[in-house]
Amino acid sequence: MIASQVKGYLERASWIRKMFEEGAKLKAQHGADKVCDFSLGNPDVPPPPEVSEALKEILAEDRPELHAYMPNAGFPFAREAMAEKVSREQDFKVSPEEVILTCGAAGGLNIIFKALLEPGEEVVFPAPFFVEYGFYVENHQGVPKPVSTKPDFSLDFEALDQAITEKTKAILINSPNNPTGRLYSEKDIADLAALLREKSQAFGRPVYLISDEPYRNLVFDGLKTPSVFRHYANTFVVSSFSKELSLPGERIGFVAVHPDMENKNEILAALILANRILGFVNAPAFAQRIAAKCALALVDVSIYERRRNLFCEILDEAGLEYVKPEGAFYLFPKTPIDDVEFCKLLQEELILAVPGRGFGGPGHIRLAFCVDESIIERSREGFIRAVQKARE
Ligand code: PLP
Repeated sequence: MIASQVKGYLERASWIRKMFEEGAKLKAQHGADKVCDFSLGNPDVPPPPEVSEALKEILAEDRPELHAYMPNAGFPFAREAMAEKVSREQDFKVSPEEVILTCGAAGGLNIIFKALLEPGEEVVFPAPFFVEYGFYVENHQGVPKPVSTKPDFSLDFEALDQAITEKTKAILINSPNNPTGRLYSEKDIADLAALLREKSQAFGRPVYLISDEPYRNLVFDGLKTPSVFRHYANTFVVSSFSKELSLPGERIGFVAVHPDMENKNEILAALILANRILGFVNAPAFAQRIAAKCALALVDVSIYERRRNLFCEILDEAGLEYVKPEGAFYLFPKTPIDDVEFCKLLQEELILAVPGRGFGGPGHIRLAFCVDESIIERSREGFIRAVQKARE
């Protein structure tokens, strides 16, 4: 009936689905307002005011061409706006021809894998990781290869050195990270670039770096996400406006190709073709117009930072160990018992979390703070009781 690969996927994807189903049950039983749902990374912070201004301006134009098909790589004005954004963020001059508008970062990752991968080639990425990475790599006949990180979730260079082999096509990193909130340091990026140069030389071909950065500007404590383009030429930057502008449903993002990438023009042509043929048919026209007008705008990050601070205080009080997130909107604390069992104890307290094993990080839970501070505060006693029960 259904493809055996997809059957396997349904199993693999089951943790988040299970939590969703359990959550729906709890909400029906106790009322949605009684359940503290930290399971979904769906931004609730309002888009910045620039977005509604842009919407008004676009609607005022009201011409039929607004809704027409567009060039496969994106409207020229949108590519120009993205090039300006990437140039500033990467502190490296990128031109509009090196940027492609995509259906979110997800679309961006898929066109890169479509363009690069031969069947069986591996994509190495640090664990814990964004659950969809494995699916995206396998969509294009690649092999996902998670590699462990250090206990503080920073890059483990010994593990990376071993994981990168003749079969490796690319390394995929995500900083600030979903699910850990870890931001890789400038030194980590420089060391990674040195390792990739060494491997590329040994293999006689490039090992690509793919930097998935949808949380680039969601950083706390005055931190700044380091440039990857300044360190390594065979790099793709992937990003989106799902988190920076709270527009995940509008499906808008981009891929930027390093100006000095080897075979850049052929790779750009492959990416643009992949954008056309994967079924989503390029980036949505309306969303490209919004993104172009709001490329440098940002949600109020201080809201996430306050939530992080409150959540950390609650976890301290409950006695859960965690690495303090430097960005994004997730916490990934260690569990005192098996992660699935601990999620069950939390459910008894009407708290929804996702077991870390779903993200390649068993013995942890993922908590998304895309909910109001009042809900985080309401979970305080529940966390304390769940930890006490786990220790009994
Ligand atoms: N990469 C990471 C690390 C994510 O967390 C997400 C979404 O949660 C994506 C990519 C996909 O985002 P988009 O909505 O831009 O496709």
